This record gives sequence, C-alpha cells and structure tokens, in this order.
Amino acid sequence: METVSAPVLAKGRIAFIGDASHGCATSLQQGAAQALEDSIVLSDFLDSGNILIALQKYTSARMKKISWVMEKSNNCMKIFNKKLTNLEKIDRNEKIKAEGLNSFILWQKLFNDDF
Ligand SMILES: Cc1cc2nc3c(=O)[nH]c(=O)nc-3n(C[C@H](O)[C@H](O)[C@H](O)COP(=O)(O)OP(=O)(O)OC[C@H]3O[C@@H](n4cnc5c(N)ncnc54)[C@H](O)[C@@H]3O)c2cc1C
Repeated sequence: METVSAPVLAKGRIAFIGDASHGCATSLQQGAAQALEDSIVLSDFLDSGNILIALQKYTSARMKKISWVMEKSNNCMKIFNKKLTNLEKIDRNEKIKAEGLNSFILWQKLFNDDF
C-alpha cells in the first residue's frame, strides 16, 4: 500500500488536509477521522484572518498527532506482512489474548494521550 513519505500540511498559501497531507496504511482506521480533525483545526485558525500565520499554527497543531498516526499505522502494516514461524504465531496469539489487538491498544493511546 502506498503512503505519503512525510506529512506536509502547508506549502506557501496552500493547505493540505486528509490523505493529500498524510495518507498512510489504514491499520488504525484513522484516515477519515484525521481528515475531519484537520479541517476543524484549520478552519479555527483561518478565523484569525492572516492565512500564512493560520497555516503555520495549523502545521504546529497537527504535526505531532498525524506523524504518530502515520508511524503507528504503517508499522502495523509491516507487522501484518511479516512472515511468522509457528512459534512466533503462538507468541502473537498469546499476546493478543493477554493485551488485546494492537489497534485497540493504539486507539487507547490515541484517545488518552495529549496530542
Ligand atoms: C479499505 C480502506 C478502509 C478504510 N477504513 C477507514 C476507517 O475505518 N476509518 C477511517 O477514518 N478511515 C478509513 N480509511 C481511510 C479513509 O478512507 C481516507 O483516509 C479518507 O477518505 C481521506 O479523505 P480525503 O478527503 O483526504 O481523500 P479522499 O476520500 O480520497 O477524497 C479525495 C477526493 O478527491 C477526488 N479527486 C482526486 N483527484 C481529483 C481531481 N484532479 N479533481 C477533482 N477531484 C479529484 C477523488 O475522486 C476523491 O473523491 C480507509 C481507507 C481504505 C482504502
């Protein structure tokens, strides 16, 4: 699956939101959610009237969270694609039984951490 190599939220007077900015693996089911968050945050800053300052603020406000989502989503996909030995499959299954699916753990972090 293709992903954006690095998130870009603004270039000159152009703003990027959603997949155009940070398209990545769908493992955390966050693409549409993050696109909506982008548009809400951007519209709040655009209210100030100065486009360049609004785009700077938008970039600072969103970069940490979308970089985290991209990294974790792409890592999940790498793990899915890894060929496992039978022993590794047993280990993985035990880990899921004990801790839950990786995406659930990451959702909890996403909703609880202060981005
Ligand atoms: C299989 C799959 C499952 C997913 N599951 C989830 C999920 O459960 N939860 C979640 O939050 N996200 C999920 N996503 C991710 C989510 O669909 C995307 O991140 C989201 O749709 C991105 O929205 P967007 O508006 O940025 O881009 P898009 O939805 O891709 O919208 C871009 C639009 O621009 C149009 N367009 C392109 N080029 C032009 C042009 N030159 N002129 C005019 N129009 C153009 C396209 O036709 C399209 O309608 C999933 C994605 C996939 C592929």
